[in-house]
Amino acid sequence: MTQEQTPGTTEPRQVAPTPGRLTVLAGPTAVGKGTIAAYVRTYFPGVWFSVSMTTRPPRPGEVDGVHYHFVDDREFDRLAEAGQFLEYAVVHGAAKYGTPRGPVERAIREGRDALLEIDLQGARQVRDTWPDALFVFLAPPSWEELVRRLVGRGTEGEAERERRLDTARAELAAQSEFDRVIVNDDVRRASEELVSLMRSGRAER
Ligand code: 5GP
Repeated sequence: MTQEQTPGTTEPRQVAPTPGRLTVLAGPTAVGKGTIAAYVRTYFPGVWFSVSMTTRPPRPGEVDGVHYHFVDDREFDRLAEAGQFLEYAVVHGAAKYGTPRGPVERAIREGRDALLEIDLQGARQVRDTWPDALFVFLAPPSWEELVRRLVGRGTEGEAERERRLDTARAELAAQSEFDRVIVNDDVRRASEELVSLMRSGRAER
């Protein structure tokens, strides 16, 4: 809440901030969503990031409560059952991922520009419950470049890579469902395009 003075009185009046805008960023594996998110975090501290919950184990360097909230399957299911997620999905046929509902609603109420970095299944669920969010698809410059990035990062074995590429094909085919497509040909350029879209909001759509 901010305070304004009612004309003709000395009484402060509570003024609710203009609600913020929700932006959903999705895109195939290895397209660079994490890199873009890291760039935005560093250079645009005004953007509020949702911290997802996941049942996958932390990777080296990942901090609970910062990169993800790491929970076990039982706790995840309990929260899902209690309606605590804005959306949730099993991603790459393995772990569960979900967006805690409360913090997002609070950030929007407080007038923040909020960003969710989630998969296609999650983006579709948010589309159903929050249709006036801005839906942005991050695309690779080409299919060959996507494969190169996935192989290059070397974090998946061959079978897992094939599985992710199958999912990526389906995700790329769904990009027309999104309001905007950003091609990740350069991290800085793509990040700046994303933030500028978030700020210009619905007028751009
Ligand atoms: P990673 O395990 O590599 O961090 O993420 C794997 C995938 O899960 C990425 O495509 C990422 O966008 C997606 N993801 C992360 N958080 C969420 C979430 O809260 N909900 C959904 N639906 N997907 C998520």
